[in-house]
Amino acid sequence: MKLYNIKDNAETINFAGAVKQGLGRGQGLFFPENLSPLANVDALLELPLVPRSVAILQHLIGDEIPKDTLTAMVEHAFTFPAPLVKVDEHTYALELFHGPTLAFKDFGGRFMAQCLATLSSEGKITILTATSGDTGAAVAHAFYGLPNIEVVILYPEGKISPLQEKLFTTLGGNIRTFAVQDDFDACQALVKNAFDDEELKAAVGLNSANSINISRLLAQVCYYFEAVAELPAEQRSKAVISVPSGNFGNLTAGLIAKAIGLPVKRFVAATNANDTVPRYLESGNWDPHATVATLSNAMDVSRPNNWPRVEELCRVKGWSLSDIASGALNDEQTQDALKRLFAKGYLCEPHGAIAWDLLNKERGKDEVGIFLCTAHPAKFKESVDRILEQDIELPGPLAKHGAMESLSETIPADFAVLKAKMMG
Ligand SMILES: *Cc1c(COP(=O)(O)O)cnc(C)c1O
Repeated sequence: MKLYNIKDNAETINFAGAVKQGLGRGQGLFFPENLSPLANVDALLELPLVPRSVAILQHLIGDEIPKDTLTAMVEHAFTFPAPLVKVDEHTYALELFHGPTLAFKDFGGRFMAQCLATLSSEGKITILTATSGDTGAAVAHAFYGLPNIEVVILYPEGKISPLQEKLFTTLGGNIRTFAVQDDFDACQALVKNAFDDEELKAAVGLNSANSINISRLLAQVCYYFEAVAELPAEQRSKAVISVPSGNFGNLTAGLIAKAIGLPVKRFVAATNANDTVPRYLESGNWDPHATVATLSNAMDVSRPNNWPRVEELCRVKGWSLSDIASGALNDEQTQDALKRLFAKGYLCEPHGAIAWDLLNKERGKDEVGIFLCTAHPAKFKESVDRILEQDIELPGPLAKHGAMESLSETIPADFAVLKAKMMG
């Protein structure tokens, strides 16, 4: 697989390099040079998740990883299903939260861990990642206990749900966590600073597990195929997929799936009040506001890192940005959507409910709608219980970690402080 830096097209790299390096020169994102269509999509849609995902990843990655190795990697990473649940005649929920940390981040996090374990040769590496809530847990659990890998996770203090936080701050061992006294965008900025610091990079063998890492995106491409595969055959060409979006990695993966031949009509980019993208698609002006805290905190991002990839994909494919539908809900509308969806018999959480509501507004009469359910409702137990007047049960892993002590350190959003902690 060959990739180029979007900011500096002369810089090219193979898959292994892009996975290990994360970002290119000038903090540019790597982008696949070849997104040629799969030859046999109909046949692929008949396969189970794991063999189909191996075929898709092999098409994208090419001969850099032998098929047997790739198969073993996918078998280790994708150990849980992604069921498509029917909500009504023309609406389905794709449940991406059946992994060990109960959010879709498990797909990317676990495949990335497999990639690094397979592709890194010598020396210690440090995975530095910023999380708006769920990446932290997925990455921490995927890398916990792996030899020669140190994980450092930054998150905005007080801005993620207590259960989300406990899931990754209680592990210890090779997982270090810092609560940053600022918002998620500030955490992302610290990660970028770190990658610009040659001394730190060399000293700790820095690597990123953010959704900027190409291995995570490629893993996510696979479940878009699963969604369409689970639709009744006669509905497969009519699908509109609504993606609850924060950093826009998930939507990027969906667009890559379409680029390589998945029959999806179009996508809906659904956000909360952090609506930089919907406003941009409407007006053409890129005008991020300050990030605000919402009920759907994993989407509290006003400067989405993956957006340049969406633009690049549209550019190389000759697609118009205006083909991406979009919308935003504030917290009041989110609560209302969650209640209406519950009244239809489907228990969801704020992120999925936003995607569902905006899908309904957007879906045409002859279209079939799929909305992505990115987290288990129990991960947002406080809000979901309050809004729906329920007392939902915590699944095993959450109950266990919820009762443990957080091992996090609090730091200001100051790169010098972070660097000292990481070097020390
Ligand atoms: C990360 C996350 C999102 C946003 O996904 P992006 O790829 O950052 O757009 C949405 N919902 C949940 C529950 C998440 O954890």
